[in-house]
Amino acid sequence: MSQYRIAAIPGDGIGKEVIAAGIEVLDALAARNGGFSFEFESFDWGSDYYKKHGVMMPSDGLEKLKPFDAIYFGAVGAPDVPDHVTLWGLRLAICQPFDQYANVRPTRILPGIQSPLRDVGAKDLDWVIVRENSEGEYSGVGGRVHKGLPIEVAQDVSIMTRPGVERIIRFAFKLAQSRPRKLLTVVTKSNAQRHAMVMWDEIAEEIAAEFPDVTWDKMLVDAMTMRMTMKPGTLDTIVATNLHADILSDLAAALAGSLGIAPTANLNPEGTYPSMFEPIHGSAFDITGKGIANPVGTFWTGAMMLDHLGEREAAAQLMRAVEMVTADPALHTPDLGGTSTTRRVTDAVIAAVQGRNT
Ligand code: NAD
Ligand code: MN
Repeated sequence: MSQYRIAAIPGDGIGKEVIAAGIEVLDALAARNGGFSFEFESFDWGSDYYKKHGVMMPSDGLEKLKPFDAIYFGAVGAPDVPDHVTLWGLRLAICQPFDQYANVRPTRILPGIQSPLRDVGAKDLDWVIVRENSEGEYSGVGGRVHKGLPIEVAQDVSIMTRPGVERIIRFAFKLAQSRPRKLLTVVTKSNAQRHAMVMWDEIAEEIAAEFPDVTWDKMLVDAMTMRMTMKPGTLDTIVATNLHADILSDLAAALAGSLGIAPTANLNPEGTYPSMFEPIHGSAFDITGKGIANPVGTFWTGAMMLDHLGEREAAAQLMRAVEMVTADPALHTPDLGGTSTTRRVTDAVIAAVQGRNT
């Protein structure tokens, strides 16, 4: 029997609530499946840790995480700690050194959930967004001088390297090739950003030659928002820069019904370092402690983690359980227009995993 060692980093706000729910569901699934088990170790890193220690995680944090098979991450962000501190101090402080360069964000409309787009159903929206996750607009390079003075200057430098762009575009072509429609859209802003984005277009042309069976096209990011809302069915796999895909994937999540259901995998595809799995949403302090956070994004994230660990059947089993639950509007949390709670949704998914009815 395989045993997987998972580092859990619940983080802040509803991150704590949804990761607790996710661990319960994954343990129940493992018990039911019988072929594997989990050993979770929890790390209390995040904003509370920062307020005590002045850092989001200890200096040997990465060393601690390295031996794990995967990382299950909640969210970071607190009202009284600047967002750039929480993001750079924990999430990016793990993603970048662990070279989790491929951020994979599937979006589809789950049973029972209504898209805000009129007449758009499950068959019209089934996408995977691949986000470049190691460089670009979030390289962290830049500076700010003469703060507050009339001559103040600030810059965030977007750095794109040929190897960085080649590997993400090749990853996206491979993923597109593995999906039934074999369709890829490469998103840039190469009309206005005439250096790095033109390089993206050229590299896409080069890599496309390796994948003659994939149909692909190019879009400018502004026009892409229109295509996602007006012609969602013409899209399948999408690849974009760190910033562009960040924005497009929140739009995608909203079009699929709620930010609360959307999952992410931060992959180090070579397996040199552990990969990290997290719901897309943040710490949502407006609903923290109310027991109404939608845990579905975290469960779906768990299914992606199972897939990554090679437990394909268990991943599919978990998604079937999640879909049985979303199909019932009585089990929708308030973000989906319902009155259900994190507890009830979690219990229902556990029951579905175990083959019981609630
Ligand atoms: P958010 O994702 O936390 O919340 C946006 C809105 O969606 C809120 O109204 C929230 O209540 C709702 N929402 C989000 N997840 C939900 C869920 N699972 N169930 C029900 N409703 C849900 O984004 P925000 O409000 O812009 O940011 C709050 C904090 O989170 C900030 O500090 C921000 O920096 C941080 N943040 C962190 C991450 C991350 O850790 N990966 C991502 C985004 C934002
Ligand atoms: Mn985001």
